[in-house]
Amino acid sequence: MNFLEERIAKDGIVKEGNVLKVDSFLNHQMDISLFEQMGAEFKRRFEGAPINKILTIEASGIGIASIVARYFDVPVVFAKKSHTINLEGEMYVAEVESFTHRCKNQVIVSQKFLSPEDHVLIIDDFLANGCALQGLISIVNSAGATVEGIGIAIEKGFQQGGRIIRNLGYHLESLAIVESMDAATGEICFARQPEL
Ligand code: 5GP
Repeated sequence: MNFLEERIAKDGIVKEGNVLKVDSFLNHQMDISLFEQMGAEFKRRFEGAPINKILTIEASGIGIASIVARYFDVPVVFAKKSHTINLEGEMYVAEVESFTHRCKNQVIVSQKFLSPEDHVLIIDDFLANGCALQGLISIVNSAGATVEGIGIAIEKGFQQGGRIIRNLGYHLESLAIVESMDAATGEICFARQPEL
C-alpha cells in the first residue's frame, strides 16, 4: 500500500451509499504533511508537462490544490459553485451534478483567470461518477486552454468516472483507487498501483 492508501485504510470510514468519509485528514480536518506527499507525487507523475495553472473546484479541492501548486510553482484557480442563474461579468459556466449532495450546481470561473495560453492541471479530492471533472474539463475547453493532466487523491474505481475520463484520452492519475468497500465490515480494497 502507498502512503495515501495506508492512511485511508487507517482513518477512512465507509458509509452506506458508496460514500467514503475521510474528513479526519482530507475533507474537513486537513493533514498538510500528507498533502505535501501528494504534491510531491503529482509533481513526479506529471513531470515534463508544461503546466502553468492548477484548476480545482470548491470546497474540498482547494486545500489539496494549494499544496500541489507549491510543487509546480503556479497559481490555483478554483471553480465556484453557484446556485444563481444570474451570473455577473464574463464567466465560463458548466453544470455539475453533485455525487454527495445529490443536486445540480452551476460552476463558474471568471474569464479573467483562464485563457487559451493556459496549460492546466486539474486537481480534485475524489473521482466518483466524473461529473465534477467533466464540468472542469468543459470550462478549460470553453477557455480554449489545454488540459495537461488530471490528478485525483481518491478514485472510486467501482464507479464509472475513471473509465469515462481515461476513455476520453486524458492523462488521469489517481493516488489511491478504491476497488471495493463494504459499509458493514468497514473493509476497503485498493486496485494495484506502482509502489510510491
Ligand atoms: P463525481 O462528480 O466524480 O461523481 O464526484 C466527485 C465529487 O463528489 C468530489 O469532488 C467529492 O467532493 C465528492 N465525492 C464523491 N464521492 C465521494 C466520497 O465517497 N466521499 C467524499 N468525501 N466525497 C465524495
